[in-house]
Amino acid sequence: MNTDNRDIQNIVIVGGGTAGWMTAAALTATLGKGGLNVTLIESEAIGTVGVGEATLPHIRFFNQKLGIDEATLMRETKATYKLGIEFKDWGKIGDSYIHPFGDFGFDINRVPFHHYVSRAAKLGQNTHLDSYSLPVMAARHGKFQPPHPDPNNVLSTFGYAYQFDAGLYAQYLRKFSEARGLTRQEGRVVQTNINSETGFIDSVTLENGQDIAGDFFIDCSGFRGLLIKDALGVGYRDWTNYLPCNRAVTAACEHIGPSLPYTTATAKASGWQWRIPLQHRTGNGYVYCSDFISDDEAANTLMADLEGPARTDPKMLRFTTGQRDKCWEKNCVAVGLSGGFLEPLESTGLYLIQEAITNFIELFPTKDCDAVDRDEYNRIMDISFERVRDFLLLHYVATTRDDSPFWNHCRTMEIPDSLQYKMDLFRSSGRVVTYEIGAFKDPSWLAVYYGQNIVPQGYNPLTDLMPDTVLAGQLAQTASTVDNAVGTMQNHGDYIKHHVLRSAAMDA
Ligand SMILES: Cc1cc2nc3c(=O)[nH]c(=O)nc-3n(C[C@H](O)[C@H](O)[C@H](O)COP(=O)(O)OP(=O)(O)OC[C@H]3O[C@@H](n4cnc5c(N)ncnc54)[C@H](O)[C@@H]3O)c2cc1C
Repeated sequence: MNTDNRDIQNIVIVGGGTAGWMTAAALTATLGKGGLNVTLIESEAIGTVGVGEATLPHIRFFNQKLGIDEATLMRETKATYKLGIEFKDWGKIGDSYIHPFGDFGFDINRVPFHHYVSRAAKLGQNTHLDSYSLPVMAARHGKFQPPHPDPNNVLSTFGYAYQFDAGLYAQYLRKFSEARGLTRQEGRVVQTNINSETGFIDSVTLENGQDIAGDFFIDCSGFRGLLIKDALGVGYRDWTNYLPCNRAVTAACEHIGPSLPYTTATAKASGWQWRIPLQHRTGNGYVYCSDFISDDEAANTLMADLEGPARTDPKMLRFTTGQRDKCWEKNCVAVGLSGGFLEPLESTGLYLIQEAITNFIELFPTKDCDAVDRDEYNRIMDISFERVRDFLLLHYVATTRDDSPFWNHCRTMEIPDSLQYKMDLFRSSGRVVTYEIGAFKDPSWLAVYYGQNIVPQGYNPLTDLMPDTVLAGQLAQTASTVDNAVGTMQNHGDYIKHHVLRSAAMDA
């Protein structure tokens, strides 16, 4: 590493939850060899939030960049594969749809496939978008295998993520980081020491009196926001008016039945409940708004609705949905819950951590932290958070449910202009607002729009160039291609047994 005295040489991460260890792994793997010293401080006495089991496909690229072997990671974290999320009872009670990690059909003459489906529906043809999605149909049949390398094969038209034990993931990343030279420091941070001239953080002091100095600090202290909030005084954008759930009660139970390659999110009277199947257990949680249900009632509802015998007592967590006003301030970046939290729906916590780390490495500063780099970082993180917020909010407002005060509140909530615009465009012409930055692209929006009964009035007129009979044949052929391909896929549980667990037995 060039030792120009402006170069950062020491980075201190405060916090050893998933955010802390993901940051540590990324920094040691990508910058450690250049001579960067990374120290992580964590306090076992304080512990971690201990949730975060369902992920998005982006995490695969994070792990790949670090050089982590997938089968090994899956064994170590007791993971299953995830093709998407099944949403039950959201648009109305009795509904069920899957938000898949993958496409619905394929563009024809540069027009997205769903416009052809809309036109067919207008012609009275009996058709459903799901039939054209390989990951939806595979999930419904409990099938899994990795995407085919040939982009022309329908078996290539999806991505996948993991459902894993987040505590084991953090432990894995700890071993990974320590093997690459990270220094772990056990202890509680009791003071943050600010430079009176620059306002930058010089060091943090531990309970035992030890000072740990750094050129740059990453706040991974969770909801506490020890550095970004307590020391640097950065405020928080409270989005409870958009995302009203503010508590969760969680419990693990025995896994019963076949191994499912998807997470389930079931809308309940005052929130929603997740079910995440891992290899050895099922994770469950009821996310709710405390204005509409008591903690006891939420816990009783959760425990009465487990698929198998409980393995843990219910654990309560409180949160305020929103985002830090600035995720980067002075010489500190907030990663993880200290930077914001948008609730667990759609599994975006770890994704936003990954975004935070990747953007930080791309905009890696010098010691004096150029304001332009910092502003660019904050601009990108603001966009990332806001787009996820709008996507989550869509699930709550695209509903006709009127069976509880909670749903009456959600159905009639004011929504941001950015979401109103997206919904208006889709309702009128079936067009999806596209963007580069952000977790959820067109197929995700389509899944929720159609799944929650937002039916577009129009469709792209270019689809009219296709004669009616050709259209019917094209749709039937696409559905049958998907169906046949799903028929060739392996059972999800068998795939794990043969390709994840058996490879361990062979290694032994
Ligand atoms: C109910 C719920 C469900 C969720 N589900 C999902 C999901 O399915 N998928 C997903 O991607 N995300 C999910 N998330 C988000 C995910 O859990 C978090 O993004 C992730 O765990 C990161 O947390 P963290 O590391 O920021 O904080 P924490 O896990 O709280 O870690 C904070 C760390 O800081 C340390 N610390 C704090 N204060 C001090 C101090 N004074 N001195 C020293 N150390 C200190 C603690 O000891 C700990 O090590 C969920 C969150 C909640 C609340």
